[in-house]
Amino acid sequence: MSKILPDSVQKLIDEFGKLPGIGPKTASRLVFYLLTKSNTDIESLGESVTNLKKNLVYCQECFNIAEQSPCNICADPKREKNTVMVVEEPLDVVALSKTSYNGLYHVLGGVISPIDGVGPEQLRVAELIAKLKEEKFDEMILATDPSLEGEATAMYIAKLVEKDKIKIKVTRIARGLPVGGDLEYADEITLTRALEGRNAY
Ligand SMILES: [Zn+2]
Repeated sequence: MSKILPDSVQKLIDEFGKLPGIGPKTASRLVFYLLTKSNTDIESLGESVTNLKKNLVYCQECFNIAEQSPCNICADPKREKNTVMVVEEPLDVVALSKTSYNGLYHVLGGVISPIDGVGPEQLRVAELIAKLKEEKFDEMILATDPSLEGEATAMYIAKLVEKDKIKIKVTRIARGLPVGGDLEYADEITLTRALEGRNAY
């Protein structure tokens, strides 16, 4: 079969195709869109990709990605330092920063998932327990995803706290129906959890 696409075009299609949520069709569309842009625009994109990780570090307190350690959140004197929210990924911090939550975070770097070969030792669990043992926090909010892995990870951490007899109030974010969601289309697990997490009205 004769080659149709120039190598440079095919190469970028292949690279985009490795990204999450991007199939071969979308990858091709993106590349052909870029071909309509000016050299300056394309160089600017390339530069952003090249420099993406250059000036990034992990905050040594919360393990979020940052430009310096401690990060802006950990170093912020206006933050309530007696509460820590445990999340899976840096993106969760971005999502939660849009809420009224004003405490600190701890980014695990994933969830326990035996199928993917991820155990607690691949995550920042030991670092979390070490921090909790200093007993500077009054409350730890477990905010891992309401998935099987997220639940298992939250439970694992809660059990460690119990085993080590660390004095802290452990809470789990309430699970339930998303705003704008439709009761009749919700799955069984979501409905059960929405009922379990019901509040006084
Ligand atoms: Zn930090």
